[in-house]
Order: sequence, then structure tokens, then C-alpha cells
Amino acid sequence: MADYVLAIDQGTTSSRAIIFDKSGSIVSTGQLEHEQIFPKAGWVEHDPKEIWNNTREVIGQALAKADLTRHDIAAVGITNQRETAVVWDKTTGEPVYNAIVWQDTRTQDIVDRLAADGGVERFKAKVGLPLATYFSGTKIVWILENVEGAREKAEAGDLLFGTTDSWVLWNLTGGVEGGVHATDVTNASRTMFMDLETLAWDDEILAAFGVPRSMLPEIKSSSEVYGTAEASSLLRETPIAGILGDQQAATFGQAAFEAGEAKNTYGTGNFLIFNTGTDIVHSKNGLLTTVGYKLGDAPVHYALEGSIAVTGSLIQWLRDNLGLISSAAEVEELAKGVEDNGGAYFVPAFSGLFAPYWRPDARGALVGLTRYVNKGHIARAALEAIAFQTRDVIEAVNADAGVDLTELRVDGGATANDTLLQFQADILGVPVVRPVVAETTALGAAYAAGLAVGFWSGLDELSANWQEDTRWTPSMDEDERARLDRNWKKAVTKTLDWVD
Ligand code: ADP
Repeated sequence: MADYVLAIDQGTTSSRAIIFDKSGSIVSTGQLEHEQIFPKAGWVEHDPKEIWNNTREVIGQALAKADLTRHDIAAVGITNQRETAVVWDKTTGEPVYNAIVWQDTRTQDIVDRLAADGGVERFKAKVGLPLATYFSGTKIVWILENVEGAREKAEAGDLLFGTTDSWVLWNLTGGVEGGVHATDVTNASRTMFMDLETLAWDDEILAAFGVPRSMLPEIKSSSEVYGTAEASSLLRETPIAGILGDQQAATFGQAAFEAGEAKNTYGTGNFLIFNTGTDIVHSKNGLLTTVGYKLGDAPVHYALEGSIAVTGSLIQWLRDNLGLISSAAEVEELAKGVEDNGGAYFVPAFSGLFAPYWRPDARGALVGLTRYVNKGHIARAALEAIAFQTRDVIEAVNADAGVDLTELRVDGGATANDTLLQFQADILGVPVVRPVVAETTALGAAYAAGLAVGFWSGLDELSANWQEDTRWTPSMDEDERARLDRNWKKAVTKTLDWVD
């Protein structure tokens, strides 16, 4: 009997393969970063071939490190950076253009064009999303309009679109030799094309965007056997049995299975997901409505989501663009050297502001500067910006849900930062809790795959695997919390209406 499940985590900065045992503990990991391509201001691309090659290689690394073979792997799950769009030729397997990454804002003109008739909320009742550069839809349109010959080929049925889950699945299951072209409901819910009620592609929206339906993958549940790995692969004949977009996977990995449960992930960006059960809740406060998960034929679970574009990437920016630190971890040392933010507030609206503001016209600002402010204060303001943005999103969740969140489960790379999470608990006034297995994204994909093949018996067994590691308890008094929040919100107003 195979004792392990392998998860492929095709993330924004790297691709990983992580092998889990039955207790949900990590047995081994393979990881490779891929190049971030910035051809122009606001443009972000990845090379899909590099991503696929890295994926194959990290699978080999993970198996080799644990001295395992395919016979030890019961199933493979895939989780992925969401919204990032790949378009490829199904006859050659070659991408027609680089992957256009979720942070890329080049499609603002396409958004404006579509919004001219009915506004940015034109399709929101059906798909849960406002028109924005963030989602896959306008990225596909850009490729069809700007890559020579793409539209003709797409109309002839030769091009396929996929988010990176589909790209990896298609390649892993054989590519041009009969690869499976599918995605799951969570990824499909980020395109702008899927009707949340029917879980099917919507022809009216596709017509408005001018995207041929033949390009789109088949929409499947998050937990079922989609196919098996191709004959030549290290994972030959192993079932690929789970797919969840990264944020939904993290929610699943945090065992937030029921309505009212939530998690917040601190990565390149921050993503809060609040499970609303089988109800579709339309936000009145700037949150997205999205699919949480769907296990086989069981009813779908929906979620509200607060996405923040720039959080961990602000720390990268301090490192790479300012040279203020030489590693992300150093930001904590620098911030600990000062008592507070010294009056400085940093609003990192580098790609506009996402939830709950949705202001593409915003640009970053560092305000409240005096001669007193030093680099420690700036480091601290950067960390605080991550926490303030999270507070804005949680205020929206509380307003939409009509009840206040009483505890926040967290995960992601930046949760290594104790100073950040203490401030987070302080500014929220609720405890912040991190589980033992902080790789919740990969774990969620492993869970979805393992459930489909009977490796795990059900959600109760998974809930029993969740264990608390660290808890940060609020210690700030209410007046101070209110003062800081007031200043933060004032700082936000300074970033709006910047782009003319
Ligand atoms: P992703 O899955 O989006 O690639 P990760 O969960 O791997 O992201 O987290 C990486 C992000 O976390 C990076 O943006 C990095 O700047 C940030 N990060 C890593 N360590 C720290 C730290 N100690 N303090 C603050 N941010 C950090």
C-alpha cells in the first residue's frame, strides 16, 4: 500500500513538490524558483516551459530525498498560483506567449472597454468578481488580440487556455499525446467566465469577452481522478486526483471546512478566505465571492475572499529595489530596533489597491515622514502595512457576515515573522494562530487528492490532523488600536486618484 501523497504547489515565485504522510506531516520537499519577467512597468510574466520543467524536476527531488518511488505515492494533488493565464497550441504543446501573471496590470484598457457597457460590476452577480486586471479573462483577451495569429488559431480550435493547474495537468497526463485539459471549480471561479450557480462556463460572458469556448478546460470538482501521470513520467500511472487554487488549498489545509471558518495567508500577497458553506454570499463591502471547494459529487462550498496584492512582495521590494535588507527575514531585525513606526505609514498600492478598495488608480505612498524617521521605522511601517491591510479586509468580512471573526488562522512565508503576527493580533484585537504544518497550501491539495482515492477517510480525519503551533494574543489597548487605524485609513486616502 502506498503510504504517501504528493502535492505539486505551482506558486508565483517557485514550484514545489511536497510529499505528505497520513498524519499530514511533510516527508520531503523539492523546490525550484522560476524567473520573474518584468518586460514593462506593470507587466509580470512567467515562462510556462520553465514552470513545467521545474515541476518535473522538483517531483524527482522530492522522491529522491525521501528515497521513494511512484509505488509509494497513492495520489497526486495540484495547487497553483491562481488567475495566471497560459495559452498554448494543443498540436505542438508550445505556449503562444509567456504566462501573464495575476499581478499584471496591462489589461486595464480591456477592463475599461468591457466596463464601458454596464460598469465594473457588470458580471458580478453571476461570477462573484468585478471586472479587474487581476482575473484570467482579460489576460486571455490580451493574448488573442496581441499575439500574431492567436485569434485565428483559437477560432480553429487549436489553442488551449489554462491556469497553471491545467498547464501542469495537461503536461503531466501526456501533453500532445492525449493530455487531459481540465481545471477545478476553484480555479474556474477566478476567470470571470464561470457561473457560480451552475458551475459551468457562461456563453454570454464568453461572447462579451470574445473568447472561444473551445479554448477552455473542462470544469471538474476539486477532488476526483482527472487522469494518470504519463508513461514516461517518474509518477507513471499515479492518479492525479486533487486540484485547488492556492488560496482555497490553504483554506482546505487549515481544515476550515465549515461555514464561518477562515484563514489568512501571508505570501507575495495576502489572501483571506472565509467559508460561507453552501450559500453564495454577495459582498456589500468589496470582497469577492468565490468557490471554496467541491469534493466529487458532494455540494459545493462557497467563500468570501479578501485579496491584497502587495504584502510579502513589499518586503522583497525593500530588499531588491531599496537594498534596505539583504533577506526577507532581516526586516524583522530592523523593525525590532525601533519601538514603533515613528509616525510613518506605508501604503504599498504598487498595483493599485485590491480588497476592499478596488482602486486601480491608486499608487504607493510613504507618509507621515519627519526628520526623526529612520530605516527601522520604514521596516516597521512595511510590516504594519501587511497587518493594516488585513484589518481592512477583516472589517469587510465581519460586516458581510454579520458576526465578528473571533480568531484568525494564518499561514504562508511571512508568518515566520513574529513581530508581524504580534502586531496583527494587536491591531485586530483577536488571537492569531499558526498550525504546526504551515505548508497548508500543499497540504490542502494533498488532502483533496488523498480523499478522492480513499487514502484519508473523510473530513473528520483531516480535522484531527490540525494542530496548533503558536498563538499570538492581543495586548494593545483599544485607544491605541483606534488611533493607529485612523492614521492608516488617512494614509490610504493619500494614494487614491494618483494615476491620471
Ligand atoms: P508565495 O507562495 O506567494 O510565493 P510564500 O508563502 O513562499 O509566498 O512567502 C514568501 C513571501 O513572504 C515573500 O514575499 C517574502 O518577502 C515574505 N517573507 C518571507 N519571510 C519573511 C519574514 N521573515 N518577514 C516578512 N516577510 C517575509
